[in-house]
Amino acid sequence: MNEFAMKAARTGGPEVIERVSIELTPPRPGEVRIRHHAIGVNFIDAYFRSGLYPTPLPTGLGSEAAGVVEAVGPDVVLVAVGDRVAYATGPLGAYSTARNIAADLLVPLPDSIGFDTAAAAMLKGMTAAMLAGPCARVERGQHALVHAAAGGVGLILVQWLARLGVEVIAHAGTEAKAAQAKAAGASTALSCPLDELAAAVRDATGARGVDVVFDGVGAASWAATLASVAKRGMLVVFGNASGPVPPVDPLALMRAGSIFLTRPSLFDYAAASADRAKLAGALFDMIGAGLKIEIGQCFPLADAAEAHRRLEARQTVGSTVLTI
Ligand code: NDP
Repeated sequence: MNEFAMKAARTGGPEVIERVSIELTPPRPGEVRIRHHAIGVNFIDAYFRSGLYPTPLPTGLGSEAAGVVEAVGPDVVLVAVGDRVAYATGPLGAYSTARNIAADLLVPLPDSIGFDTAAAAMLKGMTAAMLAGPCARVERGQHALVHAAAGGVGLILVQWLARLGVEVIAHAGTEAKAAQAKAAGASTALSCPLDELAAAVRDATGARGVDVVFDGVGAASWAATLASVAKRGMLVVFGNASGPVPPVDPLALMRAGSIFLTRPSLFDYAAASADRAKLAGALFDMIGAGLKIEIGQCFPLADAAEAHRRLEARQTVGSTVLTI
């Protein structure tokens, strides 16, 4: 097989992603070689590629993939050759036909979950599990605002919250995307300009605002986010799709009503293998209970640059998967 990876030798736009031939080496102690069948594309991949999140160059890209273990290094006990596995918090380098990776980063895949679904679901779904669970600890009957609600994380998070009994107000960039968020379980779905959003949220909540805002859009939505939250509510800013939120004055949080602000990363909530297993287990349980993983678009691995273009141009819905 012609083994290759999609890498970046410099930071910049999608054009810096290049196909590079690779040679596979035997796994070292504690590592396995995984043959990738499907690879998840995430907005964080664009942050590493653009340089927003600095990383040494040249760099591999991608943190998430699903496949089969094809070789096992010394001292590996938890997985064996032939196991179906996936990972979501791997070191960069998932955009490749195969790679070596620490065995303890792998999660065994239930037979009922295909490789494409796993690659579409793991990072985004574990993020939804983290956001709704240990991060915001949402409760039945609360109101939540979800930005980019028809995106990869968005469509999973809307379903997740609705299944927990949370009233979800979804916002998306177009009417068609808002309709998808509504179909996923949002009580209210909006596609108004962001400067009209807070007023619409107040309308929908009897002027109170929402208990929690989940904001992966960042700079462009920050003002709407702050103006939409109820007194003593929580702002969960978990991404920068439109750029990072500028520095925040703590007094702005007081004026908005004694607000809690957190900027979580899945990589902290899933740093320990027990936590990774818990979040992945919660995701598999939700999928088993009917949560849908929407694969909006697939691209061949060699077309990773095009996948980035579409994602950053807001031309995707649900999850994006690279196939081999
Ligand atoms: P999405 O599929 O949600 O794509 C991003 C969406 O953001 C777009 O579709 C678009 O939706 C919206 N958006 C609004 N403004 C812009 C803009 N200027 N440029 C691009 N997109 C914009 O991506 P993911 O599901 O991969 O990730 C969603 C967010 O979650 C990202 O910010 C990501 O970094 C974050 N994330 C954070 C994690 C963490 O641990 N903190 C883990 C995983 C993801 P629309 O057109 O509807 O506005």
